[in-house]
Amino acid sequence: RLEIRNLIRRFDGQPVVNDVSLKVSPGQVTCLLGPSGCGKSTTLRMIAGVEMQDEGEIYVDGNLICDTVFRVPPERRHIGLMFQDFALFPHLTVGDNVAFGLAGSKEQKRARVEELLDKVGLTRFIDGYPYLLSGGEQQRVALVRALAPRPKIMLMDEPFSGLDNRLRDDIRDQTLEILKQEDAAVLLVTHEPEEAMRMADEIALMRDGRIVQQGAPYNIYNAPRDKQAVAFFSDIN
Ligand code: ATP
Ligand code: MG
Repeated sequence: RLEIRNLIRRFDGQPVVNDVSLKVSPGQVTCLLGPSGCGKSTTLRMIAGVEMQDEGEIYVDGNLICDTVFRVPPERRHIGLMFQDFALFPHLTVGDNVAFGLAGSKEQKRARVEELLDKVGLTRFIDGYPYLLSGGEQQRVALVRALAPRPKIMLMDEPFSGLDNRLRDDIRDQTLEILKQEDAAVLLVTHEPEEAMRMADEIALMRDGRIVQQGAPYNIYNAPRDKQAVAFFSDIN
């Protein structure tokens, strides 16, 4: 379970993340939804531990992992990351890419890799190299690579951009199914309301560094709290 409390991040004295608090439970997908520049990626980077907050705390399963003085380093946070530009390692096979963050015996690792590649229907590429795969296939390998060490928390930043529309819907559905099976607490960043409506159990609507509304997708869509929220949702039908 992920909990962030009152996170603040300033650049040049200006807050770009301004008092953001969130909770995400295992098996739940929360979407941080908002326009470009509202502070979504900065929020994820602080949770991942690659950027420090100026104020606020981050907890995993009730344990403090970061405040302004104490800080668990990124590699010991057991957080899975899938960012738009998180490319596969070109010099490693697909199987070795998925095995990259895994501990255990060779057989144990191989079993986990096969299990995951089977879920995304890509077992036949296990000994092939990433350049053989289409963009959508690479995206799916990146997903299972992030999930391989069974992270409790999964952070995803616009993971489906760069895919064409039809493929994107398929990959969103498949991704959601696997995330649910793996029971991770997922925080997914997007600027597309449609994606949030399709994937989220809960939406946190963000604007100018703040969460301005939070709730079930249906509720936010049907009762946006102000004109800007209405405008933001108006291009979905
Ligand atoms: P997008 O949807 O375009 O990815 P975002 O919501 O992810 O946007 P952020 O990347 O979090 O937005 O950026 C929020 C604001 O903080 C932006 O105005 C950005 O220019 C600023 N910012 C981010 N990192 C830094 C930095 N290291 N130094 C100065 N300003 C920064
Ligand atoms: Mg961003």
